[in-house]
Amino acid sequence: VPRQLRVGLIGAGIGRSLTPAMHMREGEHCGLSYRYDLIDLDARGLSVSDLPALIDEAEAQGFAGLNITHPCKQAAVALVDELSPDAQALRSINTITFHGKSRIGHNTDWWGFAESFRRGLAGVPLDHVVQLGAGGAGVAVAHATAEMGARSIEIFDLDPKRAQALVEQLQPAHDACRFSIGHDLVAALDAADGLVHATPTGMDAHPGLPLDGRLLTERLWVAEIVYFPIETELVKRAKQAGCRVLDGGGMAVFQAVKAFELFTGMRPDVDRMMQHFNSL
Ligand code: NAD
Repeated sequence: VPRQLRVGLIGAGIGRSLTPAMHMREGEHCGLSYRYDLIDLDARGLSVSDLPALIDEAEAQGFAGLNITHPCKQAAVALVDELSPDAQALRSINTITFHGKSRIGHNTDWWGFAESFRRGLAGVPLDHVVQLGAGGAGVAVAHATAEMGARSIEIFDLDPKRAQALVEQLQPAHDACRFSIGHDLVAALDAADGLVHATPTGMDAHPGLPLDGRLLTERLWVAEIVYFPIETELVKRAKQAGCRVLDGGGMAVFQAVKAFELFTGMRPDVDRMMQHFNSL
């Protein structure tokens, strides 16, 4: 009899998420009876205030763990007993594991971005990085870029308070990297090695480019995190400009790889998960 494992994803508007498919297929390959439920706040007419009850329910039903996504990643931090060190630095979790009566919160988004970056943009310079977007995902990817050895990261956000909050949150955790709030994007890109994009621009619901496309020159590498669609306007333009480009798919796969490890205690086959994701 295969080992039974039940997990789920809590978030809003997650009907098209590819994460359940990735987990269940890999679980099957690993000989598990792996069930991954979508717990969609929108579909159930619920809100973030229902999160405590939803987590209690999953725990009572014997789930091994949960993935947590927008708009619950920050609220979930207060609902676990322990945080991994990364989750503590990020104050945001996308994974909960249940251990008897205790719950541990993890953040696999930042590692997902870092692992995708190490594979897709190996060896690129990281002296000066420009990042657009300082929301929840922006905090995770800026942490990842600093962990990978960036010396300076200049943050731009349409809402300057969010850029400021990111800098104040991450600077104390990274002595070797200088975080700053960007003011002049043209000058910043002129001095930059690469660009990280972490705003929703380019998603099906927010089409377009997050910056003037003429600022993309072949000198820059470009790392995108939007992955609906995989080929965003930014990815297209950056390729046309001759940049080394990373799309957002790798981050989506690798956050799932790490969550799978946390839920199952097993090492998934990364290439197989990547291939499956690309076929979805
Ligand atoms: P969010 O709403 O929390 O933050 C987005 C931020 O971008 C906001 O602070 C907003 O002010 C800013 N912004 C919007 N347009 C801008 C522009 N043109 N220039 C500068 N700043 C701008 O969103 P989030 O949760 O951080 O997610 C951002 C994107 O990342 C989403 O599209 C999401 O799908 C994607 N994402 C991808 C992965 C992955 O695995 N690849 C994981 C998480 C999030």
